[in-house]
Amino acid sequence: MNNSLNDQLLIILSSPSGAGKSTLARLLAGWDKSIKVSISATTRPSRDNENEGIEYYFLTKNEFQQKIDDGKFLEYAEVFGNLYGTPLSFIEECQKANLDVVFDIDWQGSMQIRNSMFREKVVSIFVLPPSIQELDNRLRRRGADSRAMVEGRMDKCKDEISHWTDYDYVLINNQLEEVLEQIKAIVKAERLKRTRCTGLSEFVNKLNQEFESMKS
Ligand code: 5GP
Repeated sequence: MNNSLNDQLLIILSSPSGAGKSTLARLLAGWDKSIKVSISATTRPSRDNENEGIEYYFLTKNEFQQKIDDGKFLEYAEVFGNLYGTPLSFIEECQKANLDVVFDIDWQGSMQIRNSMFREKVVSIFVLPPSIQELDNRLRRRGADSRAMVEGRMDKCKDEISHWTDYDYVLINNQLEEVLEQIKAIVKAERLKRTRCTGLSEFVNKLNQEFESMKS
């Protein structure tokens, strides 16, 4: 679990559409209450099972543009002809509360966060589908998009996959539970990195003082 010695982690999950990253993000946040899911804003119309402020904040193009102009996004990008963006305020609130954040965003957003002032906090994970056939099946089974949209998304998958080498970790989603366990292991290890344990120097100073007091 997160503790006062650790700096905040920004866990980026990217994958081609339908490879399971939004489910993984939710499961990760369910596993550890100190991890919060970043809710993006989008100009994409909501799907039947989606609710405002739960899956996304649904904005008009004008509203989205206003937020870009006001510098309200940590990153934003056009994906499948719609705009998607990560609200900066949420990340800042989580930072104050020492909470980690998991993002389900595409490679463009990932690149922008890796180049932002938050770069030291980023752990980026790319999730590959077990096969392209399986990806196609998942997108069609999901039934959330029209046939034409599914085909458009499949076209983009190849492009998304081509960015796999930009990520710290690359996992194959053969089995959701297995990938979730791998992500948990990554989070546990990343939290223990010396550079992230901000309270360590104070702790070692205290140990040194103890050495000194034992001498006298
Ligand atoms: P969907 O429309 O299926 O919910 O998402 C389409 C794609 O947009 C997914 O690859 C998802 O990861 C990406 N996406 C969702 N939110 C954001 C965001 O805030 N920024 C960026 N760059 N991509 C996002």
